Amino acid sequence: KQRGGAGVVDFEPWMSERVMEHHRLRGDLETAVRDESLTLYLQPVVDLHTRQWEGFEALVRWPVGAETWSPAQFLPVAEESGLIVPMGAWVLRESLRQLAGWRDERLGMAVNVSAQQLVGTDFFDITMQALTESGIAPSRLTLEITEQAAIQDLGRTASRLELLRSEGVHVAIDDFGTGFSSLQYLSRLPVDILKIDRKFVWGLGQQAEDDVLVRSMLGLAAELGLEVIAEGVETRRQAELLLEYGCRLAQGFLFSPPRPIEELRASDPFVSPAPAPRIPQPRRAVDDRQPS
Ligand code: C2E
Ligand code: MG
Ligand code: MG
Ligand code: MG
Repeated sequence: KQRGGAGVVDFEPWMSERVMEHHRLRGDLETAVRDESLTLYLQPVVDLHTRQWEGFEALVRWPVGAETWSPAQFLPVAEESGLIVPMGAWVLRESLRQLAGWRDERLGMAVNVSAQQLVGTDFFDITMQALTESGIAPSRLTLEITEQAAIQDLGRTASRLELLRSEGVHVAIDDFGTGFSSLQYLSRLPVDILKIDRKFVWGLGQQAEDDVLVRSMLGLAAELGLEVIAEGVETRRQAELLLEYGCRLAQGFLFSPPRPIEELRASDPFVSPAPAPRIPQPRRAVDDRQPS
């Protein structure tokens, strides 16, 4: 079929190997979802002014033997098999459970949602149940939707999201600017946040078009009253330019890669204060802190 037309192709061994491989992957993923043996990495969303964390994005991972698989390695199978639906429900529950264990109650959690999840009849209930179970306020949850997912069934998607938004949940458009959709959907979708795709952030300060595009997106967002998060910030130069252009929030390797929650906890200044400086403090400084 790939070759088009009605040509007949001789059967070759690699074809059945590919099919078998696919079946095995699907079976293994089904088991992993059922046994809840997937894990979450969290990436901090950072305030560019203060460098403080605003919250996290939950990014799913699959431990396979000694490896940790990225979404690119199994999301296509999850989507195609429908496993994305129970997997997505687990991501919602688990990410909010983890957030509930974090002491700082200002932090939010962003969860990626696929089109299949979104149009499912029980998506509202699954989301509200995850919130209730964890005791997390709805306003601390952001659902990230790609343009492509949103426009597949714009009417249904819009009403689903509107309902959740009326409960206080926030909605973000992920990978903004990469879809070939018209801007019209922005006015029809209940949205709070635009996430500028890292493709545009990458060229900041190097490719004039990217600076123009990022500034235009920030302008558009400001006009529409939307918050913006820049994705994939890797260099100080990019962060500086984003600040200059009026972008407040960012994610990227410059601040932190996605990491398991235990690792993030160890580096959170709110939980574990910075270690005492190795150079001994002058005695005077100590005296100052003593009650008079
Ligand atoms: P996304 O939602 O746009 O997530 C951002 C991706 O960029 C993540 O890749 C993250 O690791 C990566 N990233 C973050 N900072 C940087 C940076 O500074 N430089 C570069 N080069 N990359 C950076 P990841 O974790 O591999 O996820 C890929 C995509 O898979 C996500 O893109 C999202 O669309 C999807 N995904 C991840 N977790 C889930 C999930 O639980 N459910 C669904 N439906 N999709 C998910
Ligand atoms: Mg995302
Ligand atoms: Mg993105
Ligand atoms: Mg992306």
